Amino acid sequence: MIRDNLEEMRDSTESVESHEMQSSPNPSPHSIPQLPNPIIQRPVPSVSQTVPQLMDERDDISVDNLYLLENEYNYSYSDTEAEDVPSDEEQFDLKSNLASLIVEEGCSVEFTRKLLVILRKAGHEELPRTRETLIGTPREKIRTRVVSPGEYYHFGLENTLCKFNENSFLANIDIVLLNIGIDGVPLKGHQDAWPILASFCGHSSISPFLIGIYTGPHKPKCCDAYLKDFVDELNHLKSQGGVYVTTKKILKPLKINVFICDAPGRAFITNVKGHAGKLGCPKCEQVGTKVGTKLVYSNLCGQPRTNDSFRQRSDPGHHVSLNPMGLEKCLDINMVTQFVIDPMHACDLGVTKRILETITTNGLAWFKSLPEEKQMMSTYYQSLCAFM
Ligand SMILES: [Zn+2]
Repeated sequence: MIRDNLEEMRDSTESVESHEMQSSPNPSPHSIPQLPNPIIQRPVPSVSQTVPQLMDERDDISVDNLYLLENEYNYSYSDTEAEDVPSDEEQFDLKSNLASLIVEEGCSVEFTRKLLVILRKAGHEELPRTRETLIGTPREKIRTRVVSPGEYYHFGLENTLCKFNENSFLANIDIVLLNIGIDGVPLKGHQDAWPILASFCGHSSISPFLIGIYTGPHKPKCCDAYLKDFVDELNHLKSQGGVYVTTKKILKPLKINVFICDAPGRAFITNVKGHAGKLGCPKCEQVGTKVGTKLVYSNLCGQPRTNDSFRQRSDPGHHVSLNPMGLEKCLDINMVTQFVIDPMHACDLGVTKRILETITTNGLAWFKSLPEEKQMMSTYYQSLCAFM
């Protein structure tokens, strides 16, 4: 056991050394991308009780994908720079290309181990024995912060932006304009993940990246604890006058464009009553009224909410707490206009359900109990898509 561990450690060291030797400082944009050095040496911890689960089961929000993301940016070279690059054949790096493939295809630990055994027997003894070593999964223990009832890990906004290649698009933009996405994701084993994701406004072809992530048996109890690191970092970046980007650490102004969440997520991170509450409208102060068992809003708009009225608690019943919590501690954020309305919860979900209840004579319970009827209704409903 100890010997195995030592061998793995040796593999890890070898992988860093061999990668350094084989990596080209100026790879061609037309060649197959290789994992850059920071991927192998990246100090972000990977051994945790919850985050590895994400890596294996939710590749779209895993550290693996962050590696790919870095890889993508690190290879955004211009055609001019590619002229001095050696030919594709000369710089082909089996290990790096294999690592990229394994991550992109989401290959399991066991499959990768078996593949590596075959390749090593075929003469590629320079390859490591494990997936962790191949893709450079850091071995340090993750230092998470306890956020009841789970834990939170903060990758950091500036930390991630500083990993972009000095020739990436970030070096040439006037302002870093980000959309922030926050929502809950169910995981196996009755665990929930709540990632904080960022995407570049106006650069939709570039994958979103993780700023931080919470995992636990339920959603975080308190938005203030969940968002603490993110809020602290935003306030820090404001005080330093922007965010440092690329490996050259160029200071750029930073602005959050909008927060994108579904209705329950928005209510949670702004710490207000849910969208189905009497005072739940995020845009105006209209009070809903009960008609039978239904909560109904008038089609007349109430007094519009503003950032000032939100922060001054002019409608105290709308808020969960009278004190500023979570994102409200960032004074730059407009607590009303910077949060998009989620049409699914605000309209589609309720309306769709009512339509189905009306169409089916015995209500939704009957509808659920007959799979063939459900399929028939589903087909019919999909046929209406063209008219929506
Ligand atoms: Zn309203």
